[in-house]
Amino acid sequence: MKIPKSHPRYTSLMLREKLVKGWREGIVVPEGLIAHGRGEAFDYVLGETTSAPALVAERAAAAFLLRARRPVISVNGNVAALAARQVVRFAKTVSAGIEVNLFHRTDTRMRRIVRTLRAAGATHVLGLHPNARIPRLESRRALSSREGIFGADVVVVPLEDGDRTEALVRMGKTVISVDLNPLSRTSQRATIPVVDELTRALPNMERFARDLRSDPDEIGRLMKSYRKSENMKALFAFLDWRLRGLREGPKVVRGTPRRPRRIRSPGD
Ligand code: ATP
Repeated sequence: MKIPKSHPRYTSLMLREKLVKGWREGIVVPEGLIAHGRGEAFDYVLGETTSAPALVAERAAAAFLLRARRPVISVNGNVAALAARQVVRFAKTVSAGIEVNLFHRTDTRMRRIVRTLRAAGATHVLGLHPNARIPRLESRRALSSREGIFGADVVVVPLEDGDRTEALVRMGKTVISVDLNPLSRTSQRATIPVVDELTRALPNMERFARDLRSDPDEIGRLMKSYRKSENMKALFAFLDWRLRGLREGPKVVRGTPRRPRRIRSPGD
């Protein structure tokens, strides 16, 4: 479908188109389309922009990744369909490995996703030949690579399910999730939950990583000062502000709060 650039929800519709294309190509499964719908609903409430608390989490995530010994980014079908190029760029910036891990795993689908990532510029993609299992995780989702997710100290899990996030945290890893649903078990369990849309979060984290690379003191400061509970509290306060605005009527604004107009005092 051709979507005119002037359409008010152009970006969101383009993402949908990418997923449908991914489904036609056998990269995305129908369950992935449903998961995307859930994400869209939360993004609507969030105003389809990155909130200030999400930016804080993204900057902290970049710091943890830059300091990691063995960082890895986990990729599933939706992530490959929506953001293959962004994943590859981000992985290069933070020197992270890339591993494909699928809930609905078939060899054909694995190969297609690896091919998509290679076409997007990845030189080495793990996942096709797993040689380890994530403990206490049923099904083929537990399959992983020692040189990838299994042996990683910091793992980015975009659009992940709660069980696997929890299992990775249990292994002692720093788990960075990207999930628009702040109530999901993934967001609740991750070490650093990034509550933002994937195609906004990845370039944001990449930009932060580029800026931070030459500033080890700031990296250390961010790692020390990040508090998940405080960050989530701020995120829920943002949501509360959004919903209050919606409740109060048409002066609702999309995105971040507008600064109140300054009233000049006679002495100004
Ligand atoms: P959990 O097991 O963590 O409670 P879940 O059962 O919702 O979560 P999935 O069905 O795997 O897990 O859903 C993946 C999550 O990804 C959903 O919470 C959805 O909000 C989120 N999501 C979907 N699309 C995007 C996107 N483009 N950007 C960010 N998050 C997204």
